[in-house]
Amino acid sequence: MTLAIGVDVGGTKVAAGLVDESGRIIAKLKRSTPAASPPQTEQAIADVVTELLAGHQVAAIGLGAAGFVDHERATMLFAPNLAWRDEPLKQRVEERLGHQVVVENDANASAWAEARFGAARGYRDVMLVAVGTGIGAAIIIGGELYRGRWGMAGEPGHVRVVPDGRLCGCGNRGCWEQYASGNALVAEAREFARRTPVGAMRLLQLGGGVPEGISGPEITRAATEGDPAALRCFQTVGGWLGQGLADLAAILDPACFVIGGGVSEAGDLLLDPARAAFERALTGRGYRPFAEIRIAQLGQDAGIVGAADLAREASPAPAPQTTAPSSPSSGPPGPPGSGSFIRSTSIANPATNAATAQNAAKPGTDQPAAVATTR
Ligand SMILES: [Zn+2]
Repeated sequence: MTLAIGVDVGGTKVAAGLVDESGRIIAKLKRSTPAASPPQTEQAIADVVTELLAGHQVAAIGLGAAGFVDHERATMLFAPNLAWRDEPLKQRVEERLGHQVVVENDANASAWAEARFGAARGYRDVMLVAVGTGIGAAIIIGGELYRGRWGMAGEPGHVRVVPDGRLCGCGNRGCWEQYASGNALVAEAREFARRTPVGAMRLLQLGGGVPEGISGPEITRAATEGDPAALRCFQTVGGWLGQGLADLAAILDPACFVIGGGVSEAGDLLLDPARAAFERALTGRGYRPFAEIRIAQLGQDAGIVGAADLAREASPAPAPQTTAPSSPSSGPPGPPGSGSFIRSTSIANPATNAATAQNAAKPGTDQPAAVATTR
């Protein structure tokens, strides 16, 4: 059993875990992030890793960090919520730690974890769309992370969907994340409450009586109760989400979209309108299968698990295991890739669920044949 350490470095916390080959977290630690100070953040990372290293044989250490990581996976070019600007993160952490580390974008790490061990297990063409404050994303094509020439691929949140639309934090107008994110959901609800206070009674009640008091959890709660105003907000935002996924499918044609991020905790409240809009908007509909649209499974652990697994892949292999590549373990909780083939840079094609069992019978596809008819 080869252990690796994954560290999820966000704007508010550093979370690290000791992760086994099946994606299970054996031990976990959390620290708050001294976000304003790069050296202190790096020390916090080194501290949690050092603590986890004690008494364990660890093959690799991976950092998944919220920001633009360069193509060499060494430098943090820009982090919106941390003080890193052109920061040689890999080198700085290695100096403090005395061990090699692999740096990856946090959305890439999460997507990797979902594709290996979570909601998109068994799929090789996957797009993760994290619907949180904004929209984060990561692309896996043919079982490999697609990073782009400079490491910055996968920012569909800033594709313009409305000419001269809402102003975005990036400086442009009409970006997708202004319509399909958690911020958009909140903006939608507050606007409605201002315009139609009577219709937004329940939302206002939960928000302490003022539109500004309404935030994501209140909207989800009201929608769960069946409140029409809250449901309408999800319809609108889910609709924008599904339309955007159809646009992404026009470019990438993935087999599976994994929807993560805070808003995904609303589950089908978000996904039902998203799927409906996706199916209405998909080009060539009727003559192609619909991609799966699923809620992320690993939650907040995805970043840790993915960073650890990516680091394991990037590190020199220890003594090979005896499991043959052609027979991955299949008993739960035995996820894919516990054999020696995980050393390759692509996702092993597991035959551990119904979808892949079908794929085994239909070589050349990575999607269950029945997908177009199941909804
Ligand atoms: Zn933007």
